[in-house]
Amino acid sequence: MPECTDINFLEELTRIFGFTRFREAQEEIVRDMLLGRDLLVVLPTGGGKSLCYQLPALLSEGLTVVVSPLIALMKDQVDVLRGRGAPVAVFHSLQSSEERRETLALLDSGRCRLLYVAPERFRADGFLESLKRHRIDRFAIDEAHCLSQWGHDFRPDYLRLGDAIRALGSPPVAAFTATATPIVRDDISSNLGLRDPVVRVSGFARENLAFRVRHVSGEREKLEAVQRLVGRWKTGIIYCATRKKVEKVSESLAEQGSSVISYHGGMDGDAREEAQNRFMAREYDIAVATNAFGMGIDRSDVRFVIHYELPGSPEAYYQEAGRAGRDGAPAECELLFNYADRRTQEFFIEGSNPSANLIRTVYRTLLGLAGKNHELLLTVDDLAKHLPERTNPMAVSTSIGILTRIGWIQRFDVPGRRLRGTRLLRPNDRETSLPLDDKALREKRRRDERKLEAIIRFCEHSSGCRQDWILDYFGEKSSQPCGQCDYCTSREDPDLRAPSEEEQLLARQVLSGVARMSRRIGNRSWEARFGKGKIIESLMGVESSGSSAGFVANLSTFGLLADQPKKRLQAVFRELEKRQYLRTDLSERFRLLTLTERGVRVLLEGETCHLDWDRLPRERSIFSRRKKRSIETSNLSEENTQLFESLRELRREVAAERGVPAFTIFHDQTLVELAEDRPATIDEALQIKGIGPAKANKELPLFLKKIQESASS
Ligand SMILES: [Zn+2]
Repeated sequence: MPECTDINFLEELTRIFGFTRFREAQEEIVRDMLLGRDLLVVLPTGGGKSLCYQLPALLSEGLTVVVSPLIALMKDQVDVLRGRGAPVAVFHSLQSSEERRETLALLDSGRCRLLYVAPERFRADGFLESLKRHRIDRFAIDEAHCLSQWGHDFRPDYLRLGDAIRALGSPPVAAFTATATPIVRDDISSNLGLRDPVVRVSGFARENLAFRVRHVSGEREKLEAVQRLVGRWKTGIIYCATRKKVEKVSESLAEQGSSVISYHGGMDGDAREEAQNRFMAREYDIAVATNAFGMGIDRSDVRFVIHYELPGSPEAYYQEAGRAGRDGAPAECELLFNYADRRTQEFFIEGSNPSANLIRTVYRTLLGLAGKNHELLLTVDDLAKHLPERTNPMAVSTSIGILTRIGWIQRFDVPGRRLRGTRLLRPNDRETSLPLDDKALREKRRRDERKLEAIIRFCEHSSGCRQDWILDYFGEKSSQPCGQCDYCTSREDPDLRAPSEEEQLLARQVLSGVARMSRRIGNRSWEARFGKGKIIESLMGVESSGSSAGFVANLSTFGLLADQPKKRLQAVFRELEKRQYLRTDLSERFRLLTLTERGVRVLLEGETCHLDWDRLPRERSIFSRRKKRSIETSNLSEENTQLFESLRELRREVAAERGVPAFTIFHDQTLVELAEDRPATIDEALQIKGIGPAKANKELPLFLKKIQESASS
């Protein structure tokens, strides 16, 4: 082999692959591999990681063994390399015996440089023995997070790799993955026995993406946020946590006349594939989907990605958000955060992490229900009903998956029926001999919980750049703030007007209430002590019970804002948090609130407090709502006002029936104009702003009828 320092990597890159330059970090990785170092490389999907092991392999004399769990991906790479005339072999379970013989012949010829192998190959001793006959220069382990993230019982084949590598004389190892937090990296490193590995994390920053987290209090605010983004950007993906939400959101968008397609796990495989293909073919502008969508999505013109609900982990979030702006043009990623959505994710964690005990119970139940042929035809929901205790069907389904993976049961299709059958493969074995690793199962659950905590911290993070936070989470050092996330832009939000005197006073009163309810730990710094609810109550003068009651009632700020509606105070708190005047500290499971440095400046130095005051509820909400209405309807005659009221009533009924917010049917202003113009036909009504053809056909007939009735009464 030539000395690695003598090689002109760029020349080789061009000669073999036809590329004229390396992508970020690739050249250093190639050099380290040729120097025989162990490596741990974290590059995002599409970051060019396969080249990092292909080039060194083709520049070496021995064999580079690439371990990858994805057969389709291996085939793709092998086809491309063979197309370039490279001597490449592959071993996987879907090969014919003919193909396998060819692979062996190529290996024995000694010409082969790259051998792709699925991890389960290492189960067979014979395979390991046959490898020993060859000179192995290095191992490259793709998708190395399988060593950690999925828990021992889920990817046992990966755990064999450490032993296999040792048995082959411990050649250098390079582990590659697209997602690995520092904890996961430690796992990979220790499970593979890496020796002082070079760690490279690169390519995670996405310069054209603006990351934002919007704190919202409910569905209405979420739908409004969606409409704003759809209006601004046109094409995008909206991720929801559940199938029900997918249906609801896409319905609401369709009613607005958007071109939208939905995608969720409840659809059958063909329908899902069709939805995905039609979105890819740009027949639709917007996809509303659960997280199953987009595994292979590479539509470059996605301008926004909205997370309608909290995702389960920073990994999932970043992967999904990263589908925006693949073309490099500006795009926006907005996460709509409502703390209550955490419950959905907790439910998923529950469902995807059955205890060893539950898995045993499921197995025992299967044994009890199986017929003489050791088979049973039962849906997961029905099986769940046979369990001794009420159980989350998702946890039952996961248990079945685990039993299948460890080879104790087999699932089969039943012709003409939608359910799948279950066959017991070891009908004479009791559940007590199931090879389950209790500790590993518990550990995986804890990991999932920690990831959920992490994404919540991301949402509540208010003291720095979002992109920076993400890079830090993935272990990549960043150089400077992104300049376009909500944090980076909040300081000079051009849309915010200056507060009035009363508004500025209100903000300072709230901040001083928070300060009084915090522990002072320095000249200008406080430590959180109470949650938001308690602080608001104290400002409102609500007598509380509990050990802190006396303390709270004696504060100078107790009852200071008793004249403010609670809704307004809550909204002011939300705004103060969102714009980094307040921060939440997580202590155990409590969320405690205190001042940030920015908040201190407003409180002590009288710096202007920039909130979106116009979006907050008014001081006296009922009065102001009446006032607002009177502006809209002030020009209407009394007769028209009556009609307007009955149109509103009709809209309320229609909305309630469909379970959608009223404004998604028609806006108030549209109703005012309907009452004024009194159109008799759909064509006439189409002249009115806010009524498009889609809406006209769907919504108008009922409203036109109401208008007609009022004329004849
Ligand atoms: Zn930023």
